[in-house]
Amino acid sequence: MKSGKINVKTENIFPIIKKFLYSDHDIFLRELISNAVDATQKLTHLVKSGVVPIELGDITIEVVVNKNDKTLRVIDKGIGMTEDEVVKYINQIAFSSAEEFLEKYKGTDAANIIGHFGLGFYSAFMVSKEVEIITKSYVAEESAVRWVCDGSPQYKMERHDKTERGTEIILHISDEDEQFLDEQKIIALLNKYCRFLPVAIRCGNEKYWETPEGEEKSVELERPRIINNTNPLWKQTPSGLTQEDYLKFYRELYPMSFEEPLFQIHLNVDYPFNLTGVLYFPKVKNQLEMQKNKVQLYCNQVFITDQLEGIIPEFMQLLHGVIDSPDIPLNVSRSYLQSDAAVKKISTHITKKVADKLEEMFKNNREDFEQKWDDIKVFIQYGAVTDEKFYDRAKSFYLLKNIDNKYFTFDEYKTHVEALQKDKEDTLIYLYAADVDAQHVYINAAKERGYDVLCFDGFLDTHFINMLEQKLEKTRFTRVDADIIDKLIAKEEVQVSKLSEEETKQLQEIFNNSVEKEKFMVKIESLSETDLPILLTRNEFMRRYQDMEKLSGQKSFYSSFDHYTLVVNGNHELANKLLHETDTEKQTTLTKQLVDLAMLSQNLLTGEKLSEFVKRSVGLL
Ligand code: ADP
Ligand code: MG
Repeated sequence: MKSGKINVKTENIFPIIKKFLYSDHDIFLRELISNAVDATQKLTHLVKSGVVPIELGDITIEVVVNKNDKTLRVIDKGIGMTEDEVVKYINQIAFSSAEEFLEKYKGTDAANIIGHFGLGFYSAFMVSKEVEIITKSYVAEESAVRWVCDGSPQYKMERHDKTERGTEIILHISDEDEQFLDEQKIIALLNKYCRFLPVAIRCGNEKYWETPEGEEKSVELERPRIINNTNPLWKQTPSGLTQEDYLKFYRELYPMSFEEPLFQIHLNVDYPFNLTGVLYFPKVKNQLEMQKNKVQLYCNQVFITDQLEGIIPEFMQLLHGVIDSPDIPLNVSRSYLQSDAAVKKISTHITKKVADKLEEMFKNNREDFEQKWDDIKVFIQYGAVTDEKFYDRAKSFYLLKNIDNKYFTFDEYKTHVEALQKDKEDTLIYLYAADVDAQHVYINAAKERGYDVLCFDGFLDTHFINMLEQKLEKTRFTRVDADIIDKLIAKEEVQVSKLSEEETKQLQEIFNNSVEKEKFMVKIESLSETDLPILLTRNEFMRRYQDMEKLSGQKSFYSSFDHYTLVVNGNHELANKLLHETDTEKQTTLTKQLVDLAMLSQNLLTGEKLSEFVKRSVGLL
């Protein structure tokens, strides 16, 4: 038996590992299983390439929980280690990163560096008071060794009688970490981190593993199931896969999800970095459906995280699926990932791939693309508003939908509107409705003039319009109820007023007396006789400002500042009738009735006012 001291200058590294290294203690299991998988794959490689002529046999990795002796064991049938290798890889190399960590740790702000170091094997000490390694190399003549370390830099090493090839790591779980002796907990962790690892993994408790003497082992009965899918879909060749395969894998990833994805992109890149994965497009129509933790990041099939803020662009987090790259550093914290150059490149590349796919879909089958549009619009808007490069790609396939459900690209719509508004103004006016039912009166007015009205009823539309106005040249967006239509799109022929100056003043007076002055501004306009007698409009910019505030949850002076313009058509027959009504009571009733009708057109007539209106209407009838 040998004993020695791990090559480290500070005595107390383990308490530090325990406390600070990973905020998430769970990670030790991921590290140990990764090592077991590496060791197994190294051997598989040697055997398959004919370098080592041995029988591989069953290479399933076993995880055994034993509540009685408070151990957790990870057993592989991989390449194993000789005594020299344990000295080299466990005592020296593995520990050098621990030492480096400590050097940096001293005198620095711990929070800044913790998590920049991966301690792999040594992370086992986060949850153990003692760790044993029993390992036998695949080289037949080498004998097995046992290494033990109790959490101080002292270790012991001795020969062992293990005859089976491979490595067994035995963790003597510390009292405060007994949760890791719960089989269900361990299975849950394996499901999280190891679900798609390339070597089969089985997890069971001591009952399966140890049979009391004299009893016959009923292995078949108790043998736990393999918990992982060793050949996940994203690692397979896309040409061999059907749409049904992709849907099946989606259900495997999200068993609790009822919605099916719309379509997917299979990522398969080998240059300038390695990247595989599948990204699914979910249906996203409103804020509630914007779920941001559904993309899972893997490194060589080992789960790293599904919290991707700062790692991939915000809008990409709306997608579902898997990204896997060996270039993503495994043992590090998120703050490190966010600043990692490889991660940044990967992120840019994925965005480009997504734009490629959307463009290809648009070009290859526009009809199908239009059918999916309403469900992917939010995603594309989010991308366009937050990522300049994505906007530059999206502007060729972004679709504007009008209230007749016709779709136009930006270029197509420009041509369309130019034809309708020719010679009218230098700037094109894009009319839109945010609520086709509520703004019906205004939409009709626009349609009667032969104008087109876009449908902008999505919850990101206000943001999107603001952005588009900056991008599209000589174009202004205005909601159909922002003013009377002839003001929104100026007409050449001006309507002549039928009222004298005196009559106009009089009419203004009549209406001023029957509305709340701080809320309404009365304006007498000369419209056509066939236009409505009265209408409420709302200034575009004030309204948009309020919409933005509502979206961001902020409040200011303007939030409660509901201001409307009451447009009275001086040329309408009713205006004339009002002016010449000699019975003042009748005049007041008629005025009130007209104002209420205008309110109705903006959905503003509710409660007591509505009851009054109904009563008055009955009286008039
Ligand atoms: P890394 O995996 O990044 O190399 P670790 O600290 O996890 O760092 O492991 C250190 C080394 O110990 C590994 O590179 C490997 O050589 C050796 N090792 C760890 N676990 C095993 C195992 N189960 N079988 C064989 N070798 C192992
Ligand atoms: Mg490792």
